[in-house]
Amino acid sequence: MYMRLDKFLSQTGKFTRAEAKKVIKAKRVRLNDEVVKDGKIKINEESDKIFLDGELLALNNKEVYYMLNKPAGVVSATRDDKDKTVIDLINFPGRKEDLFPVGRLDKETTGLLIITNDGKFAHDIISPKKHVSKTYEAVVTGKISEKEVKIFSQGMELSNGDKLQPAQLDIISYSEKDDTSKVRVIIHEGKYHQVRRMFGAVSQRVLELDRVKIGLLELDDTLERGEYRELTEEELNLIK
Ligand code: URA
Repeated sequence: MYMRLDKFLSQTGKFTRAEAKKVIKAKRVRLNDEVVKDGKIKINEESDKIFLDGELLALNNKEVYYMLNKPAGVVSATRDDKDKTVIDLINFPGRKEDLFPVGRLDKETTGLLIITNDGKFAHDIISPKKHVSKTYEAVVTGKISEKEVKIFSQGMELSNGDKLQPAQLDIISYSEKDDTSKVRVIIHEGKYHQVRRMFGAVSQRVLELDRVKIGLLELDDTLERGEYRELTEEELNLIK
């Protein structure tokens, strides 16, 4: 889609139309590799890159979808007085206030988290009615056996009376030395501290929790903790 450069600049939410003209005149705006002198030129908002003082700009109304590999110690919130948030990890060229995480991972939980500015998309993933599954890998205390697998598969009741949908528990390995088990858990809802509370209900404790999948979307294993990238069109279609 083509639009005038001065219109693009004003739609980033950073300037009025008049201010946009001024920054162009001051030669602070670059279209791809070239400094722009005329705000009336048409740009291709899909393929052209616009920079202000060397910093990439994006439209504030454009929907963005990032896959973040969340590190431990960072909170899934847009703002926090004490802790670093997942939004602080994103270098977003548009209106950063519009970004939010899709659902929450606990501060110590790592792995796949989607960050977007598209409220409807987020709602569809979080909504319990949509049954989008979430897959976690966890290290838990004790030797997990077929007994727990069965309890998880039957839909368990938590200590506060929450009745859960059936969940899949796969045993990956057991460490005799540490007396811990590595497991995979697939749940279809997202209640507060759900996985930790599920293991609590079978008298075990989660030591590490890592989300590896949302629906069919897998965490890109080339992303280090704290790194992120935009979702591809194909990945978006997997969960939209
Ligand atoms: N379940 C939990 O207990 N914590 C998370 O962060 C995610 C799922």
